[in-house]
Amino acid sequence: MPLGGVGEIGMNLYLYGYGPPGHREWLIVDMGITFGGDAEPGIDVILPDIRFLEEERPNLKGLLLTHAHEDHFGAVVVLWPRLGRLPVYATPFTASMLKSKLGEVGMLKDFPLEVMPMGGRRTIGPFDVELVTMSHSIPEPSGVVIKTNLGTVLHTGDWKLDETPLTSGPTDEARLRALGDAGIDALICDSTNAVRDGISPSEADVAVTLAQLIREAPRRVAVTTFASNVARIGSVAKAAQAAGRRLVVVGRAMYRVIEAAQETGYLDPDLPMLPETEFERIAPGKVVALCTGSQGEGRAAMARIALGEHPNVELDPGDRVIFSSRTIPGNEKAVARVQNGLSDQGIEVITDQDAPVHVSGHPRRGELEQLYRWTRPRIAIPMHGEGKHLEAQARLAERLGVREVVRARNGAMVRLAPGPASIIDDVPAGRLYRDGALITGEGDGQVRERRKLAFVGSVVVSLVLSEKGQLLADPEVALTGIPATDAHGAPFETIAREAAIGTVESIPRPRRKDTNLVSEAVRRGVRAAINQAWGKKPVCSVLLTVL
Ligand SMILES: [Zn+2]
Ligand SMILES: [Zn+2]
Repeated sequence: MPLGGVGEIGMNLYLYGYGPPGHREWLIVDMGITFGGDAEPGIDVILPDIRFLEEERPNLKGLLLTHAHEDHFGAVVVLWPRLGRLPVYATPFTASMLKSKLGEVGMLKDFPLEVMPMGGRRTIGPFDVELVTMSHSIPEPSGVVIKTNLGTVLHTGDWKLDETPLTSGPTDEARLRALGDAGIDALICDSTNAVRDGISPSEADVAVTLAQLIREAPRRVAVTTFASNVARIGSVAKAAQAAGRRLVVVGRAMYRVIEAAQETGYLDPDLPMLPETEFERIAPGKVVALCTGSQGEGRAAMARIALGEHPNVELDPGDRVIFSSRTIPGNEKAVARVQNGLSDQGIEVITDQDAPVHVSGHPRRGELEQLYRWTRPRIAIPMHGEGKHLEAQARLAERLGVREVVRARNGAMVRLAPGPASIIDDVPAGRLYRDGALITGEGDGQVRERRKLAFVGSVVVSLVLSEKGQLLADPEVALTGIPATDAHGAPFETIAREAAIGTVESIPRPRRKDTNLVSEAVRRGVRAAINQAWGKKPVCSVLLTVL
């Protein structure tokens, strides 16, 4: 049952249950986050709503993480404390990344983290769980085989086919074929690139392009990529070395991943790299800077370099910046701002539109077809993607002859066995917002209000009435985000004040004892007066004091 990650980007959370209603035991797969955008002003992190899991707390048997991308494991440090010392299972690299996060928030001590080897197998509650090595854009992505006496499910996690992923992997074709031969009932599969035909290029192809672009660069080179892409970091380091350049690492997130990768053997522990403070001392033809900020994040290294505000790294005209990344939907404006900032300074910008400097970690249609042929499932449930991606995979599965294709969305409870697959229930699913130091529900409304304020501003009116309903002073008015005057030069402050006085006076004295009635009438009157002059209705609040 998907609680997140189906029908939208990010926030993956899936739940597999076994047993009759009331006695059902659960295995959670992944617990991710997504990041707030323009539609969620003031919200940095969006988490899945886990009300259902909290209710089922005694029946939760474990949380298994498929890989260390934020959209799959980012919520653990925030939500795990609500789930009652639930054991968490992960492979060594994912565990190392999780430990680094837990350490930062002081949760590492006594955390029940169980490290499983790649391809490992163990019993978790009523589930026989086996990991299958896949390839993706981070070390140790694992598909999960979940067996009970009712059948076998393959949950792919994020994956692609790549013979040369330059990190763990490749995808364990032999195991997948064997599982298919033994019989897979349900395939729950990544849909991200299901609208794209063919087979995605390999990480090794990107390494070749990067090596050439770094070798041939006339002056300094800066490369930005997803910090978690260890293979890419390795490729940049090798390319720098081959070109006789020193590698400088810029940005904390990059260090965190490099440390985890060195700990687990995915990067050479003696990788020659220098701290960013060394950048300026190296001759322009002899340096490569590896930077965070491929998504235009304001506080990350690349944005600060583009503004000329980075304390240690400054680029000059003729230097080359490579965006070895894809722009995640929603980040287009921020990325364009950074790239334009660089271009304005005469710095050459190379993106995946100009050269093959990035590959996706998700399967295109050709790869999906391969997996369906190997595994031949009875049931297919597309996951991980927006509606059009899910539908593209659903149709592909139907075309490939899968008998039961379930179109599930967040919150759908799907019965896989016994009997034919079907959606049997809907459970609460949605989003939580991290708003400052608090976690709040999407329905709490403050974000919606904030969005509204951004468009129309606000007006606050303070009234003081006597017990008999007489105005004891001119109303005080505070305007925020509203123009100073109307088209004829009349101040909005005056317009609001006069509307407030006019409204109070239009209410017969005896009725003014009803303070709610007065407040609401003034609120409407002031809003209407401002709307008449401005063409927009501000958010209006009235504070009424009776003396
Ligand atoms: Zn991923
Ligand atoms: Zn993902």
